[in-house]
Amino acid sequence: MERRRIALCLCLMLASTQADEALAELWWKPTRTQINASDSFHVPVAIRNGQGMELILAPPGNFLIGSPKNERDRKLNEGTLHLVSITRPFYVQADEVSQAEWYEVMGRNPSNLLEAGDDAPVESISWFDAVVFCNKLSILEGLEICYRVENMQMECHFCQNRISVHEKTCPICGAVLRTSSRPIYGSIQSARVTFLGLGRNGYRLPTEAEWEYACRAESITAYSFGAQLLPEHANFKGSLPPPDPGGSTDWGTSVPGRSYEANTWGVYDMHGNVEEWCWDRYAHYPEAARRVDPVGPDSGDGRIKRGGNWGKASNYCRSARREHAPAALGFPTVGLRVVRSVIAEE
Ligand SMILES: [Zn+2]
Repeated sequence: MERRRIALCLCLMLASTQADEALAELWWKPTRTQINASDSFHVPVAIRNGQGMELILAPPGNFLIGSPKNERDRKLNEGTLHLVSITRPFYVQADEVSQAEWYEVMGRNPSNLLEAGDDAPVESISWFDAVVFCNKLSILEGLEICYRVENMQMECHFCQNRISVHEKTCPICGAVLRTSSRPIYGSIQSARVTFLGLGRNGYRLPTEAEWEYACRAESITAYSFGAQLLPEHANFKGSLPPPDPGGSTDWGTSVPGRSYEANTWGVYDMHGNVEEWCWDRYAHYPEAARRVDPVGPDSGDGRIKRGGNWGKASNYCRSARREHAPAALGFPTVGLRVVRSVIAEE
């Protein structure tokens, strides 16, 4: 009996530590800052979680957010270059969340570009969907959730009214919305979302500052690869040489992750492919000489999306480029990438 109890305990311990696996073989050469952070915080430089998603370690540090005045095609909302301090390490997913990964967590694939394949990024998700995905992933991985999400509403496919996501039958038009116990619902159109803070260990969207920090990976140029974005760097409009003069110059769709080069920290597709939802509301950057772990303004215009996409020219994919959209909308050009705070153990 005693032995069986010990065996059970061992099993539970294994189950609870199984989620993350340190990666022995890496696809890039970690920078000195990544290795130092790995050593001082006693965490691997890259991990694979229980869903098979791979994440790399972003070291704490300072960087200049925004673009210099002489950067080509810069926009005014990229602000005056100012210092941002990221005071704690975090893991950032090496890839955009794929259609297959989204399906595993959410039980449906809402993507429009299905022909791009399971390994292509999920898209056509609202910002609210992205937040709910993060919470569900945290629960699956036995981590703390990072968002309190209340009063979720979706649009009835039949009458287009907003109704609770928990309805099985539309209370307005009477349409049957689901016939099984599977959690199938449409895109979430509204909800009250509270960010529970950077101190939680679960999955979340990057803050806008974290996103640009991971995109730049210690670079100060317009792109993480330098002053220009070349065809081997990213999936953007014009990234393919035209097959014949006057012919198509772009794929016109998303492509599977890792089709292009990783940046210095081992992160793929920060430029192009699909844009990525961030946590922050959109507003002009505040006047500040230095900001510490910023999480964006308390009010603003929609939510930030970063990184450019397959349908845009390279200048739209610059590291500093800021875009935003209403949180209820989904686009075949916008997906997400998750991050996780590294919380020092007591
Ligand atoms: Zn209805």
